[in-house]
Amino acid sequence: MSYLLIFHHNDLLLTASHSLPTDEVRNLLPTPPGEWLTLPALDGMPCKAAEVAEKETVGVGEWIGLRESYYVLPSTHFMMAGKAHELLHWHSHSRYCGACGASMEWSSDISKRCRRCGHEIWAAVQPAMIVAVTRNEGREILLVQSKNFKRDYLGLVAGYVETGESLEDCVRREVLEETGLRIRNLRYFASQSWPFPNVLMMGFTAEYDGGELRLQRSELNKGGWFSRDNLPAIPGKVSLARRLIDHWLDQAAPETLPGS
Ligand SMILES: [Zn+2]
Repeated sequence: MSYLLIFHHNDLLLTASHSLPTDEVRNLLPTPPGEWLTLPALDGMPCKAAEVAEKETVGVGEWIGLRESYYVLPSTHFMMAGKAHELLHWHSHSRYCGACGASMEWSSDISKRCRRCGHEIWAAVQPAMIVAVTRNEGREILLVQSKNFKRDYLGLVAGYVETGESLEDCVRREVLEETGLRIRNLRYFASQSWPFPNVLMMGFTAEYDGGELRLQRSELNKGGWFSRDNLPAIPGKVSLARRLIDHWLDQAAPETLPGS
């Protein structure tokens, strides 16, 4: 018996009771996948992942967005689904050798080797950072809306790490580029695998140090400083952005708590 992680783009197939399907659904898929990837075991059971071309599933269960599956799956199952999604994406984008163009073959669960020249590659992870900038002794937080956001909420300044820069350089550069602000007291908070498609998101906190707020219009729709009692819609619990914002909310200064 194996767990099956079956994807159609960003959607994951779950059973009607919102759990990961097992081998019995294999024969029910109208168009079986051509290839199954092997993943580490989950709850002592083997795990396999595949991408299907069609969404029709004939009563096998239902499709749910990978992001939304966070709210219904046990956390270890959600993490495995993320890993599966990253590996499927990497597999479909690394079929040929970048050095000589010959076809690649798997050399481990997370690496491939070129059949002709031996060039070896590992499943890629894209490093990115996200930062909660506060000012006025933590009473206000900087929230922005990226043009990439799918819904109308505000989140945190975030961006991809560039070649040749440290994480700290990246945080300072992104904040300056996107908002015109300088920061100090940069501190690491936590990290998160973000499988859309293969990001390792690293979270920081920082304090405002100077500069006038000037939004980079090519990247951001809106943004500004917010206090705890005028918060706009914020990202869902699945995200590191929300963990950072919740961490800030938990540190509420006494005079700003409602009723005090
Ligand atoms: Zn090669």
